[in-house]
Amino acid sequence: MTDLLGNYKLVLGLEIHIHVNTKQKMFCGCDANIYDAEPNTHTCPTCLGLPGALPVPNYEAVKKTQLLGLATDCQLNTNSKFDRKHYFYPDLSKGYQISQYKEPLCEHGKIVLSSGRIAEIERIHLEEDTAKSKHENGKTLIDFNKGGMPLMELVTTPCFSNIDDAVEFAKMVRDLARYLNISEADMEKGQMRIEPNISLRTAEMERLDELPPYKVEIKNINSFRFMEKAVKCEIVRQRGILETGLTPEQQNRGYDENKNVTVAQRSKEEAHDYRYFPEPDIPPMIFSEQYIEDIKKQLPELPAELAVRLATKYQLKETQIFELIKSENKDLVQKLEELASHNLDPVKVANLLLNKLEYRNLSTEAFIQQYNKDNETMDDADMLTQAVKKILAANTEIVDQYKNGKESVLNFLLGQVMRETKGKANPEITMQLIKELI
Ligand SMILES: [Zn+2]
Repeated sequence: MTDLLGNYKLVLGLEIHIHVNTKQKMFCGCDANIYDAEPNTHTCPTCLGLPGALPVPNYEAVKKTQLLGLATDCQLNTNSKFDRKHYFYPDLSKGYQISQYKEPLCEHGKIVLSSGRIAEIERIHLEEDTAKSKHENGKTLIDFNKGGMPLMELVTTPCFSNIDDAVEFAKMVRDLARYLNISEADMEKGQMRIEPNISLRTAEMERLDELPPYKVEIKNINSFRFMEKAVKCEIVRQRGILETGLTPEQQNRGYDENKNVTVAQRSKEEAHDYRYFPEPDIPPMIFSEQYIEDIKKQLPELPAELAVRLATKYQLKETQIFELIKSENKDLVQKLEELASHNLDPVKVANLLLNKLEYRNLSTEAFIQQYNKDNETMDDADMLTQAVKKILAANTEIVDQYKNGKESVLNFLLGQVMRETKGKANPEITMQLIKELI
Protein backbone atom coordinates (compact mmCIF):
# COMPACT_ATOMS: atom_id res chain seq x y z
CA MET A 1 0.00 0.00 0.00
CA THR A 2 2.92 2.38 0.58
CA ASP A 3 3.53 2.09 -3.17
CA LEU A 4 0.05 3.37 -3.84
CA LEU A 5 0.32 6.22 -1.39
CA GLY A 6 3.76 7.53 -2.34
CA ASN A 7 4.58 10.27 0.14
CA TYR A 8 1.00 10.60 1.32
CA LYS A 9 -0.83 9.09 4.29
CA LEU A 10 -4.32 7.64 4.12
CA VAL A 11 -7.18 9.08 6.15
CA LEU A 12 -10.10 6.67 6.04
CA GLY A 13 -13.45 6.56 7.82
CA LEU A 14 -16.43 4.29 7.31
CA GLU A 15 -20.18 4.60 7.27
CA ILE A 16 -21.85 1.23 7.52
CA HIS A 17 -25.55 0.83 6.83
CA ILE A 18 -27.31 -2.26 8.09
CA HIS A 19 -30.96 -3.29 7.67
CA VAL A 20 -32.36 -4.23 11.06
CA ASN A 21 -34.20 -7.56 10.88
CA THR A 22 -37.52 -6.47 12.35
CA LYS A 23 -40.91 -7.87 11.36
CA GLN A 24 -42.19 -4.51 10.21
CA LYS A 25 -40.72 -1.45 8.55
CA MET A 26 -39.35 1.48 10.52
CA PHE A 27 -42.39 3.74 10.77
CA CYS A 28 -45.32 1.70 9.41
CA GLY A 29 -46.85 -1.75 9.61
CA CYS A 30 -45.56 -3.04 6.26
CA ASP A 31 -44.00 -6.51 6.28
CA ALA A 32 -40.22 -5.98 6.32
CA ASN A 33 -39.40 -9.25 4.58
CA ILE A 34 -38.98 -7.59 1.21
CA TYR A 35 -36.04 -9.49 -0.20
CA ASP A 36 -37.69 -11.68 -2.80
CA ALA A 37 -40.90 -9.69 -3.16
CA GLU A 38 -42.44 -8.28 -6.34
CA PRO A 39 -41.68 -4.55 -6.64
CA ASN A 40 -44.04 -2.17 -4.83
CA THR A 41 -45.97 -4.90 -2.99
CA HIS A 42 -44.74 -3.89 0.49
CA THR A 43 -45.99 -0.32 0.66
CA CYS A 44 -48.59 1.75 2.46
CA PRO A 45 -49.53 5.45 2.71
CA THR A 46 -46.87 6.01 5.41
CA CYS A 47 -43.83 4.60 3.61
CA LEU A 48 -45.05 6.11 0.34
CA GLY A 49 -45.17 9.47 2.08
CA LEU A 50 -48.77 10.23 1.26
CA PRO A 51 -50.29 13.33 2.88
CA GLY A 52 -51.76 12.79 6.32
CA ALA A 53 -49.98 9.50 7.04
CA LEU A 54 -48.17 9.51 10.38
CA PRO A 55 -44.98 7.62 11.29
CA VAL A 56 -44.85 5.43 14.42
CA PRO A 57 -41.31 4.29 15.39
CA ASN A 58 -40.59 0.57 15.52
CA TYR A 59 -39.35 -0.14 19.03
CA GLU A 60 -37.71 -3.45 18.02
CA ALA A 61 -35.41 -1.51 15.66
CA VAL A 62 -34.61 1.02 18.40
CA LYS A 63 -33.69 -1.72 20.84
CA LYS A 64 -31.56 -3.66 18.37
CA THR A 65 -29.64 -0.50 17.52
CA GLN A 66 -29.03 0.06 21.21
CA LEU A 67 -27.80 -3.54 21.54
CA LEU A 68 -25.21 -2.97 18.83
CA GLY A 69 -24.26 0.25 20.62
CA LEU A 70 -23.64 -1.61 23.85
CA ALA A 71 -21.71 -4.35 22.06
CA THR A 72 -19.39 -1.73 20.57
CA ASP A 73 -18.79 0.11 23.81
CA CYS A 74 -20.98 3.09 22.91
CA GLN A 75 -22.78 5.33 25.36
CA LEU A 76 -26.54 5.07 24.99
CA ASN A 77 -28.11 8.49 25.05
CA THR A 78 -30.93 8.85 27.56
CA ASN A 79 -32.40 11.54 25.31
CA SER A 80 -32.68 10.74 21.64
CA LYS A 81 -34.90 11.95 18.82
CA PHE A 82 -35.60 11.68 15.11
CA ASP A 83 -34.90 14.49 12.65
CA ARG A 84 -35.92 15.24 9.11
CA LYS A 85 -33.12 15.28 6.57
CA HIS A 86 -34.18 17.06 3.40
CA TYR A 87 -33.01 16.39 -0.09
CA PHE A 88 -34.70 15.87 -3.37
CA TYR A 89 -34.29 12.55 -5.08
CA PRO A 90 -36.87 10.31 -6.81
CA ASP A 91 -36.25 7.41 -4.42
CA LEU A 92 -37.22 9.55 -1.43
CA SER A 93 -40.99 9.57 -1.27
CA LYS A 94 -41.51 12.44 1.18
CA GLY A 95 -38.75 14.77 0.00
CA TYR A 96 -37.06 14.11 3.32
CA GLN A 97 -35.75 11.10 5.18
CA ILE A 98 -36.50 10.51 8.83
CA SER A 99 -33.07 10.07 10.36
CA GLN A 100 -31.21 11.15 13.47
CA TYR A 101 -28.90 14.15 13.48
CA LYS A 102 -28.33 15.49 16.97
CA GLU A 103 -28.93 13.04 19.82
CA PRO A 104 -28.47 9.71 18.00
CA LEU A 105 -29.24 6.53 19.94
CA CYS A 106 -25.56 5.63 20.50
CA GLU A 107 -22.29 7.59 20.58
CA HIS A 108 -18.55 7.31 21.27
CA GLY A 109 -17.91 3.58 20.90
CA LYS A 110 -14.92 1.53 19.87
CA ILE A 111 -13.78 -1.86 18.67
CA VAL A 112 -10.29 -3.21 19.32
CA LEU A 113 -8.77 -4.66 16.15
CA SER A 114 -6.53 -7.73 16.00
CA SER A 115 -3.52 -5.41 15.59
CA GLY A 116 -4.38 -3.86 18.95
CA ARG A 117 -5.28 -0.58 17.21
CA ILE A 118 -8.59 0.96 18.16
CA ALA A 119 -11.35 1.77 15.68
CA GLU A 120 -13.36 4.69 17.02
CA ILE A 121 -17.11 4.80 16.49
CA GLU A 122 -18.56 8.29 16.42
CA ARG A 123 -22.20 7.30 16.48
CA ILE A 124 -24.82 4.70 15.60
CA HIS A 125 -28.19 6.08 14.62
CA LEU A 126 -31.42 4.79 13.18
CA GLU A 127 -33.19 5.97 10.04
CA GLU A 128 -35.44 4.79 7.25
CA ASP A 129 -34.00 3.44 4.02
CA THR A 130 -34.83 5.00 0.67
CA ALA A 131 -36.54 3.23 -2.20
CA LYS A 132 -34.59 1.53 -4.95
CA SER A 133 -34.24 3.04 -8.41
CA LYS A 134 -33.49 0.99 -11.44
CA HIS A 135 -32.35 2.55 -14.69
CA GLU A 136 -33.58 0.74 -17.76
CA ASN A 137 -33.73 1.81 -21.44
CA GLY A 138 -33.39 5.49 -20.61
CA LYS A 139 -36.15 5.25 -18.00
CA THR A 140 -35.95 5.11 -14.22
CA LEU A 141 -38.16 2.63 -12.38
CA ILE A 142 -38.66 2.85 -8.65
CA ASP A 143 -39.41 0.02 -6.23
CA PHE A 144 -40.72 1.39 -2.93
CA ASN A 145 -40.44 -1.92 -1.05
CA LYS A 146 -37.08 -0.84 0.38
CA GLY A 147 -38.37 2.64 1.22
CA GLY A 148 -39.00 2.89 4.95
CA MET A 149 -36.97 -0.18 5.90
CA PRO A 150 -35.26 0.20 9.29
CA LEU A 151 -31.66 1.09 8.66
CA MET A 152 -28.97 1.64 11.24
CA GLU A 153 -25.98 3.71 10.32
CA LEU A 154 -22.68 3.29 12.11
CA VAL A 155 -20.19 6.10 11.55
CA THR A 156 -16.53 5.87 12.51
CA THR A 157 -14.11 8.74 12.94
CA PRO A 158 -11.48 8.96 10.18
CA CYS A 159 -9.42 6.61 12.33
CA PHE A 160 -8.08 4.13 9.76
CA SER A 161 -4.68 4.67 8.19
CA ASN A 162 -4.69 1.44 6.22
CA ILE A 163 -7.24 -0.55 4.25
CA ASP A 164 -6.75 -3.85 6.08
CA ASP A 165 -7.84 -2.37 9.41
CA ALA A 166 -10.94 -0.89 7.79
CA VAL A 167 -11.89 -4.19 6.14
CA GLU A 168 -11.34 -6.07 9.39
CA PHE A 169 -13.51 -3.55 11.23
CA ALA A 170 -16.33 -3.83 8.70
CA LYS A 171 -16.23 -7.63 8.98
CA MET A 172 -16.32 -7.43 12.77
CA VAL A 173 -19.39 -5.19 12.61
CA ARG A 174 -21.07 -7.63 10.23
CA ASP A 175 -20.26 -10.57 12.52
CA LEU A 176 -21.54 -8.70 15.57
CA ALA A 177 -24.80 -7.85 13.81
CA ARG A 178 -25.27 -11.53 13.01
CA TYR A 179 -24.18 -12.69 16.43
CA LEU A 180 -26.68 -10.42 18.16
CA ASN A 181 -29.42 -11.35 15.69
CA ILE A 182 -29.74 -7.72 14.64
CA SER A 183 -29.39 -8.46 10.95
CA GLU A 184 -28.35 -11.22 8.57
CA ALA A 185 -26.17 -8.47 7.08
CA ASP A 186 -26.11 -10.23 3.71
CA MET A 187 -24.36 -7.77 1.43
CA GLU A 188 -25.64 -9.42 -1.72
CA LYS A 189 -29.20 -8.75 -0.60
CA GLY A 190 -28.37 -5.14 0.21
CA GLN A 191 -28.76 -5.75 3.95
CA MET A 192 -25.37 -4.19 4.59
CA ARG A 193 -23.64 -1.44 2.59
CA ILE A 194 -20.36 0.28 3.21
CA GLU A 195 -19.40 3.85 2.36
CA PRO A 196 -15.74 4.62 2.90
CA ASN A 197 -14.68 8.26 3.05
CA ILE A 198 -11.19 8.86 1.87
CA SER A 199 -8.65 11.64 1.82
CA LEU A 200 -4.88 11.90 1.76
CA ARG A 201 -2.52 14.06 3.79
CA THR A 202 1.20 14.61 4.18
CA ALA A 203 3.28 12.95 6.88
CA GLU A 204 3.64 16.39 8.47
CA MET A 205 -0.15 16.77 8.68
CA GLU A 206 -0.39 13.32 10.17
CA ARG A 207 2.17 14.26 12.81
CA LEU A 208 0.19 17.40 13.69
CA ASP A 209 -3.06 15.36 13.65
CA GLU A 210 -4.41 17.72 11.01
CA LEU A 211 -7.18 16.48 8.71
CA PRO A 212 -7.23 17.22 4.97
CA PRO A 213 -9.59 20.03 3.83
CA TYR A 214 -11.73 17.62 1.79
CA LYS A 215 -13.04 14.09 1.77
CA VAL A 216 -14.49 11.85 -0.88
CA GLU A 217 -17.21 9.40 0.00
CA ILE A 218 -17.73 6.28 -2.09
CA LYS A 219 -21.38 5.30 -1.98
CA ASN A 220 -23.10 1.95 -1.59
CA ILE A 221 -20.37 -0.63 -1.73
CA ASN A 222 -21.72 -4.13 -1.37
CA SER A 223 -18.68 -6.36 -0.84
CA PHE A 224 -15.48 -6.25 1.18
CA ARG A 225 -13.44 -6.97 -1.92
CA PHE A 226 -14.99 -4.05 -3.80
CA MET A 227 -14.41 -1.84 -0.81
CA GLU A 228 -10.72 -2.64 -0.88
CA LYS A 229 -10.50 -2.09 -4.64
CA ALA A 230 -12.51 1.12 -4.52
CA VAL A 231 -10.32 2.62 -1.81
CA LYS A 232 -7.20 1.66 -3.72
CA CYS A 233 -8.26 3.26 -6.97
CA GLU A 234 -9.47 6.36 -5.12
CA ILE A 235 -6.04 6.68 -3.49
CA VAL A 236 -4.42 6.64 -6.93
CA ARG A 237 -6.86 9.25 -8.28
CA GLN A 238 -6.46 11.64 -5.35
CA ARG A 239 -2.71 11.28 -5.30
CA GLY A 240 -2.62 12.22 -9.00
CA ILE A 241 -4.54 15.43 -8.27
CA LEU A 242 -2.49 16.30 -5.18
CA GLU A 243 0.78 15.83 -7.06
CA THR A 244 -0.24 18.53 -9.55
CA GLY A 245 -0.65 20.90 -6.59
CA LEU A 246 -4.46 20.87 -6.60
CA THR A 247 -6.90 19.65 -3.94
CA PRO A 248 -9.46 16.98 -4.83
CA GLU A 249 -13.05 18.18 -4.76
CA GLN A 250 -15.28 17.20 -1.84
CA GLN A 251 -17.82 14.90 -3.44
CA ASN A 252 -19.64 11.60 -3.50
CA ARG A 253 -18.42 9.04 -5.96
CA GLY A 254 -19.59 5.60 -7.03
CA TYR A 255 -17.40 2.58 -7.69
CA ASP A 256 -17.62 1.03 -11.15
CA GLU A 257 -16.43 -2.53 -10.58
CA ASN A 258 -16.23 -3.33 -14.30
CA LYS A 259 -13.83 -0.52 -15.08
CA ASN A 260 -12.29 -0.48 -11.57
CA VAL A 261 -12.64 3.30 -11.29
CA THR A 262 -14.63 5.66 -9.10
CA VAL A 263 -17.07 7.99 -10.85
CA ALA A 264 -18.26 11.41 -9.64
CA GLN A 265 -21.86 11.54 -8.42
CA ARG A 266 -23.06 14.69 -6.73
CA SER A 267 -20.93 17.18 -4.83
CA LYS A 268 -21.07 16.27 -1.20
CA GLU A 269 -23.50 18.32 0.83
CA GLU A 270 -22.62 19.95 4.10
CA ALA A 271 -24.98 19.27 6.98
CA HIS A 272 -26.69 22.66 6.55
CA ASP A 273 -27.70 21.74 3.00
CA TYR A 274 -29.99 19.09 4.43
CA ARG A 275 -31.97 21.61 6.54
CA TYR A 276 -32.24 19.17 9.42
CA PHE A 277 -34.97 19.81 11.96
CA PRO A 278 -36.65 17.69 14.63
CA GLU A 279 -39.33 15.38 13.24
CA PRO A 280 -42.53 17.02 14.53
CA ASP A 281 -44.66 13.86 14.17
CA ILE A 282 -42.56 11.74 16.55
CA PRO A 283 -42.07 12.72 20.19
CA PRO A 284 -38.51 12.62 21.58
CA MET A 285 -37.41 9.32 23.09
CA ILE A 286 -36.40 9.34 26.73
CA PHE A 287 -34.67 6.29 28.21
CA SER A 288 -34.22 5.89 31.94
CA GLU A 289 -30.96 4.66 33.45
CA GLN A 290 -32.91 1.62 34.64
CA TYR A 291 -34.02 0.88 31.07
CA ILE A 292 -30.41 1.03 29.85
CA GLU A 293 -29.31 -1.27 32.69
CA ASP A 294 -32.02 -3.74 31.66
CA ILE A 295 -30.87 -3.74 28.02
CA LYS A 296 -27.31 -4.36 29.16
CA LYS A 297 -28.51 -7.50 30.92
CA GLN A 298 -30.02 -8.75 27.67
CA LEU A 299 -26.72 -8.52 25.89
CA PRO A 300 -25.36 -12.05 25.33
CA GLU A 301 -21.72 -12.95 25.80
CA LEU A 302 -19.84 -11.19 23.00
CA PRO A 303 -17.37 -12.93 20.67
CA ALA A 304 -14.37 -11.24 22.31
CA GLU A 305 -15.54 -12.32 25.76
CA LEU A 306 -16.28 -15.83 24.54
CA ALA A 307 -12.77 -16.03 23.06
CA VAL A 308 -11.24 -15.21 26.43
CA ARG A 309 -13.42 -17.80 28.17
CA LEU A 310 -12.65 -20.55 25.63
CA ALA A 311 -8.96 -19.85 26.11
CA THR A 312 -8.91 -19.70 29.91
CA LYS A 313 -11.53 -22.29 30.81
CA TYR A 314 -10.82 -24.90 28.13
CA GLN A 315 -7.30 -24.03 26.92
CA LEU A 316 -8.45 -24.29 23.31
CA LYS A 317 -6.05 -23.49 20.50
CA GLU A 318 -6.17 -20.06 18.87
CA THR A 319 -7.33 -21.47 15.53
CA GLN A 320 -10.16 -23.36 17.24
CA ILE A 321 -11.26 -20.25 19.11
CA PHE A 322 -11.20 -18.19 15.92
CA GLU A 323 -13.66 -20.64 14.33
CA LEU A 324 -15.86 -21.14 17.38
CA ILE A 325 -16.60 -17.46 18.00
CA LYS A 326 -18.20 -17.10 14.58
CA SER A 327 -21.93 -16.54 14.88
CA GLU A 328 -22.78 -19.62 12.81
CA ASN A 329 -20.91 -21.82 15.32
CA LYS A 330 -22.92 -20.82 18.40
CA ASP A 331 -24.44 -24.32 18.58
CA LEU A 332 -21.04 -25.96 18.49
CA VAL A 333 -19.89 -23.94 21.48
CA GLN A 334 -22.93 -25.09 23.39
CA LYS A 335 -22.18 -28.72 22.48
CA LEU A 336 -18.55 -28.32 23.42
CA GLU A 337 -19.46 -27.00 26.85
CA GLU A 338 -21.93 -29.80 27.42
CA LEU A 339 -19.36 -32.44 26.43
CA ALA A 340 -16.57 -30.84 28.43
CA SER A 341 -18.82 -31.06 31.48
CA HIS A 342 -18.72 -34.87 30.99
CA ASN A 343 -14.94 -34.79 31.45
CA LEU A 344 -14.06 -35.09 27.78
CA ASP A 345 -10.90 -33.33 26.64
CA PRO A 346 -12.13 -29.93 25.30
CA VAL A 347 -9.34 -29.60 22.73
CA LYS A 348 -10.11 -33.03 21.27
CA VAL A 349 -13.85 -32.34 21.33
CA ALA A 350 -13.41 -28.96 19.60
CA ASN A 351 -11.29 -30.66 16.99
CA LEU A 352 -13.95 -33.30 16.29
CA LEU A 353 -16.80 -30.78 16.19
CA LEU A 354 -14.96 -28.44 13.85
CA ASN A 355 -13.35 -30.97 11.54
CA LYS A 356 -15.59 -34.04 11.51
CA LEU A 357 -19.07 -33.14 10.38
CA GLU A 358 -20.44 -36.57 11.34
CA TYR A 359 -19.85 -35.73 15.00
CA ARG A 360 -21.95 -32.59 14.96
CA ASN A 361 -25.32 -34.27 14.83
CA LEU A 362 -24.64 -36.94 17.45
CA SER A 363 -26.52 -36.79 20.72
CA THR A 364 -24.37 -36.22 23.79
CA GLU A 365 -24.47 -39.93 24.66
CA ALA A 366 -23.65 -41.10 21.15
CA PHE A 367 -20.84 -38.56 20.96
CA ILE A 368 -19.31 -39.79 24.21
CA GLN A 369 -19.52 -43.40 23.05
CA GLN A 370 -17.88 -42.67 19.72
CA TYR A 371 -15.29 -40.48 21.42
CA ASN A 372 -14.33 -43.23 23.89
CA LYS A 373 -14.07 -45.81 21.14
CA ASP A 374 -11.78 -43.57 19.10
CA ASN A 375 -9.68 -42.81 22.13
CA GLU A 376 -9.29 -46.47 23.05
CA THR A 377 -7.68 -47.29 19.73
CA MET A 378 -5.59 -44.20 20.11
CA ASP A 379 -4.49 -45.26 23.57
CA ASP A 380 -3.76 -48.80 22.31
CA ALA A 381 -1.48 -47.37 19.67
CA ASP A 382 0.35 -45.42 22.34
CA MET A 383 0.66 -48.48 24.58
CA LEU A 384 1.92 -50.62 21.72
CA THR A 385 4.60 -48.08 20.83
CA GLN A 386 5.69 -48.04 24.45
CA ALA A 387 5.87 -51.85 24.53
CA VAL A 388 7.94 -52.04 21.33
CA LYS A 389 10.35 -49.39 22.60
CA LYS A 390 10.75 -51.29 25.84
CA ILE A 391 11.54 -54.62 24.13
CA LEU A 392 13.99 -52.98 21.72
CA ALA A 393 15.78 -51.27 24.61
CA ALA A 394 16.02 -54.57 26.52
CA ASN A 395 17.45 -56.47 23.52
CA THR A 396 20.16 -54.26 22.10
CA GLU A 397 22.33 -57.25 21.06
CA ILE A 398 19.52 -58.75 19.03
CA VAL A 399 18.82 -55.37 17.46
CA ASP A 400 22.48 -55.21 16.45
CA GLN A 401 22.23 -58.66 14.86
CA TYR A 402 19.30 -57.37 12.78
CA LYS A 403 21.28 -54.31 11.77
CA ASN A 404 24.06 -56.68 10.64
CA GLY A 405 21.63 -58.36 8.28
CA LYS A 406 20.09 -61.14 10.35
CA GLU A 407 16.42 -60.54 9.53
CA SER A 408 15.12 -63.68 11.22
CA VAL A 409 15.60 -62.08 14.66
CA LEU A 410 12.56 -59.88 13.95
CA ASN A 411 10.32 -62.82 14.81
CA PHE A 412 12.01 -63.15 18.18
CA LEU A 413 11.36 -59.47 18.90
CA LEU A 414 7.75 -59.83 17.78
CA GLY A 415 7.31 -62.72 20.17
CA GLN A 416 8.70 -60.66 23.01
CA VAL A 417 6.27 -57.82 22.30
CA MET A 418 3.36 -60.29 22.16
CA ARG A 419 4.39 -61.58 25.56
CA GLU A 420 4.72 -58.06 26.93
CA THR A 421 1.21 -57.12 25.74
CA LYS A 422 -0.25 -60.45 26.83
CA GLY A 423 -1.13 -61.28 23.24
CA LYS A 424 -3.26 -58.22 22.64
CA ALA A 425 -1.06 -56.59 20.05
CA ASN A 426 -1.87 -56.87 16.35
CA PRO A 427 1.13 -58.80 14.88
CA GLU A 428 1.20 -56.95 11.55
CA ILE A 429 1.09 -53.50 13.11
CA THR A 430 3.61 -54.58 15.72
CA MET A 431 6.01 -55.86 13.07
CA GLN A 432 5.70 -52.59 11.22
CA LEU A 433 6.38 -50.64 14.40
CA ILE A 434 9.43 -52.75 15.19
CA LYS A 435 10.89 -52.00 11.76
CA GLU A 436 10.14 -48.30 12.15
CA LEU A 437 11.57 -47.96 15.62
CA ILE A 438 14.58 -50.22 15.31
ZN1 LIG B 1 -45.49 0.99 4.79
